[in-house]
Amino acid sequence: MSTVVYLNGQRIDYENAKVSVEDRGFQFGDGLYEVVHIYSGRFFYLDRHLARLQNGAKEIYLDLDFGLNNLEKVCRQAVKESGFKDASAYIQVTRGAAVRQHAFPKESSCTWVVIVRESKGNPQEFYENGITCITVPDERWSRCNIKTVQLLANCIAKEKAQRAGSFEAIFHRGGSVIEGSSSNVFIVKDNKLITHPVNNKILNGITRGVVLEIADKNDIKYSEEVFCMDDLFDADEVFLTGTTTEIMPVVKVDGKIIGDGIPGKLTKTVQKYYQEYIRTVDC
Ligand code: PLP
Repeated sequence: MSTVVYLNGQRIDYENAKVSVEDRGFQFGDGLYEVVHIYSGRFFYLDRHLARLQNGAKEIYLDLDFGLNNLEKVCRQAVKESGFKDASAYIQVTRGAAVRQHAFPKESSCTWVVIVRESKGNPQEFYENGITCITVPDERWSRCNIKTVQLLANCIAKEKAQRAGSFEAIFHRGGSVIEGSSSNVFIVKDNKLITHPVNNKILNGITRGVVLEIADKNDIKYSEEVFCMDDLFDADEVFLTGTTTEIMPVVKVDGKIIGDGIPGKLTKTVQKYYQEYIRTVDC
């Protein structure tokens, strides 16, 4: 069992997998990515991740010249070859290599990479006891719906969280809570889930969508609306969602205790249903 790398559709040894110094992903952050979870050898909504990649490509005028079907085949092949049952697939697509200039090159083909590695997951105690967050101003650009590889603001935010001994940094903008540096944020108030609406300010998380499906199916009330920092601190419960984060209870934000300071009832319910999804989804 080993990490498997495919570069432009070819299997390559990890050590030899290299891209051009002129790659636009490297020079301009001109590219997109996805991270997909594989549970017990089954993809968790690869189809939704590829659809999001396709939407992002449209937004940045990127022609996925290698073909999405081809990418899907490579992802599935790479997981088989890795031998890992619990793994993550990192997919990156850039506008390719060309002599450096801002405007898009007339002739270039995408650089596309698939890396499948073993998923270590977060410590179980995080899910059982909850984690802490800090809040930071959202200094990103205004098209956060696109999953681009331009992640410096997210990286700085996550680094600040780690230096503060926290798991995640939650972005706020104009007094509103936006999302985490690599997760979406839900609060619970009076037995209702509340999360930021889908627009250009957040990434429309696949996990976020699954949580809303869970809510629909199980008569859990929810609303997609903007909420403010006070709502966050006064919430009965807070949790984060994300492909690698899964359903993560938050028990403290900026040193202030949320609710009873332990993972809440509704958070645990969503966690339970999410585990069922993990056991059954294969697409
Ligand atoms: N928001 C941001 C900024 C992210 O980077 C991510 C995941 O990487 C998410 C939300 C959660 O998205 P998903 O559930 O599709 O992993």
